[in-house]
Amino acid sequence: MNKYEWCKEEIELIKNQGLYREFKRIDSMPSTEVYVNGKTKTMASSNNYLGLANDPRLIQSAYDGMLAFGVGSSGSRLTSGNTVLHEKLEDKIAKFKNKDAALIYSSGYLANIGVISSLLKEGDIILSDELNHASIIDGCRLSKAKTKVYKHANMKDLEEQLKRSQSYNKKLIITDGVFSMDGTIAPLPEINKLAKQYGAIVAVDDAHATGVIGTSGAGTADYFETDVDITIGTFSKAIGTEGGYVVSSKEIIELLRNRSRSFIFQTAASPGVIAATIKSIEIIENDINTRKRLLDISKHLRLKLEGIGFEVKGTSIIPIIPVIIGQESLASKFAELIESEGVFAPAIRPPTVPDGESRIRLTVMATHTDEQIEFIYNTFCKVGKELGII
Ligand SMILES: *Cc1c(COP(=O)(O)O)cnc(C)c1O
Repeated sequence: MNKYEWCKEEIELIKNQGLYREFKRIDSMPSTEVYVNGKTKTMASSNNYLGLANDPRLIQSAYDGMLAFGVGSSGSRLTSGNTVLHEKLEDKIAKFKNKDAALIYSSGYLANIGVISSLLKEGDIILSDELNHASIIDGCRLSKAKTKVYKHANMKDLEEQLKRSQSYNKKLIITDGVFSMDGTIAPLPEINKLAKQYGAIVAVDDAHATGVIGTSGAGTADYFETDVDITIGTFSKAIGTEGGYVVSSKEIIELLRNRSRSFIFQTAASPGVIAATIKSIEIIENDINTRKRLLDISKHLRLKLEGIGFEVKGTSIIPIIPVIIGQESLASKFAELIESEGVFAPAIRPPTVPDGESRIRLTVMATHTDEQIEFIYNTFCKVGKELGII
């Protein structure tokens, strides 16, 4: 009997549910055209919305940062790992987000679990949107606070739950700004209004909004021209690098620096990545045109797909275009066929999305050419007809 037989049994179960996961390997830059399985494909599922992950200016900045401060940071921020670059990036992201202070984490995942678990205690309550990202869910699980889930972007349900939460000490409402699998935007002005009325703090995970929406590209609060108590985010989407952050008041940041375990016990991010991230935010602040192109071509592609009969979720100003296919197996087949036609966009299946709502999460990049957008559209039409979806 093999010592790891139990793993095999569990993997078999996963396979039987049609939920087995495998890597795809990209043998090239994360550009609009990628090399996969020996063939060139048009990338249609990247989070590199602005094309900055492969931008030569960021690559040069990363190199300069490493030349000055090394490849690894050699310690936690609180021991030997802090450099002027880390401090500069915290300044920069706080200003970009129009808040007083910031703290950098090694990833958005760690930022969410670190922030939520260290700010909320026993006797507190967290109200969390049902479509929130897994890292928010895990943050809630790690905190000793009570967690209640409200229906997606449903303000009536949120208010009901707030009414029933008056006996708790602190109350936190937490939501994605832009929902990664649905492309919807949280109704932040209404959430803020309810928070004020019921004495709650609001936290927004702006992973997919930062660099994409808002007059300055600063995300959801910028888009609604409002403010939010706490914004958590990642540098790994439109910003094009990696790492997480939280921006808020000086008091919240000071507390997190002293209490947040996923910050304290983590080696500081590499100076190269930090230098590239500073450069990226500088570029985003000064380049309205790239953002405008992203939103224009996203809207164009979305309307065309809807026009031909696809069921598309989300909001027209977002570069995430979730094309609903339905059953897991059909979505997998769809992804397989578009890939053989030269479009790279894997199927998203449960538990990432609800049963029966498997989809292709199509995403647009500002660096897609008009021809590439046309090619993606034509391929979706061809495969959609072949499988009887449209
Ligand atoms: C990607 C993502 C994260 C995680 O960020 P990483 O830096 O990749 O760990 C957190 N929240 C949301 C909404 C995301 O989309």
